[in-house]
Amino acid sequence: MICRLCGGSDLKPLYTQGARGEFAFFRCRTCRLVSYDLSAGLDQEKYSRELPDPMSSDDPRNASQSRTYSFIARRYARPGRLLDIGCGNGRLLHLAASDGWEVEGVEMPGGMAEKTAARLGVPVHEGVFPGSMPVLEGRFDLVVLRHVLEHIPDPPAAIEAIRSLLTEGGEALLEFPNIDGLDQVTKRMLERLGLRRKRYRPSYIPGHCCEYCRGSFRFLLERSGMVLERWETYSSRPWLDPLLRVAPLGGKARAIVGQGPPEPRRGT
Ligand SMILES: [Zn+2]
Repeated sequence: MICRLCGGSDLKPLYTQGARGEFAFFRCRTCRLVSYDLSAGLDQEKYSRELPDPMSSDDPRNASQSRTYSFIARRYARPGRLLDIGCGNGRLLHLAASDGWEVEGVEMPGGMAEKTAARLGVPVHEGVFPGSMPVLEGRFDLVVLRHVLEHIPDPPAAIEAIRSLLTEGGEALLEFPNIDGLDQVTKRMLERLGLRRKRYRPSYIPGHCCEYCRGSFRFLLERSGMVLERWETYSSRPWLDPLLRVAPLGGKARAIVGQGPPEPRRGT
């Protein structure tokens, strides 16, 4: 097996999943990316399910998209064009559109795109990122991927596709699990010591191809000529956020990616 990010072969086993430990995850010693050995199968289906009304502020299933939008509202003084890849029920699109953003979404084939578009009255395209994306007119000031990156087997292709969707000066906001979060590190240690054993249902198959930490994410960006503008971690417990901004040990990461300095012009 080779690393999905740097192509290196210096990988060490990091942990396994499944009742018999049949799903193996390896960490690259060069770029720190954690890659799952896909030969045992990948389950992307379990994420498409019935979702709540995007207009509902009370439904707890909307809370995580609402928190992402709060971050966007704090960071960007003026609305622009926003694309949410993997927009689900469109809660984030709804909040952004209410604030004046011109929004579009992308969802996997299976009917969700049509449902979300009809409910919100905004364009939601059907496509698989980054492999078979619809042709999108124009470019976006902000491209959002919430918990999408870890499902993509070819990370450099994902970053290249994101870059192609941005306006000059546009940014991308990505959220994904932080494999070096305190919870994750503790669980891995307890499992290694035999003090913890997670139960898996017999039909369990992993859904993540890659797991990132700050180091491997940065490596991915630098390889693609993009820049990490901001990195913070968070968890599913909002009251911990202020602490996690000081000590970035949360189990989830939120990154702002910029395009870096422009290519030098020929002859200068
Ligand atoms: Zn690597």
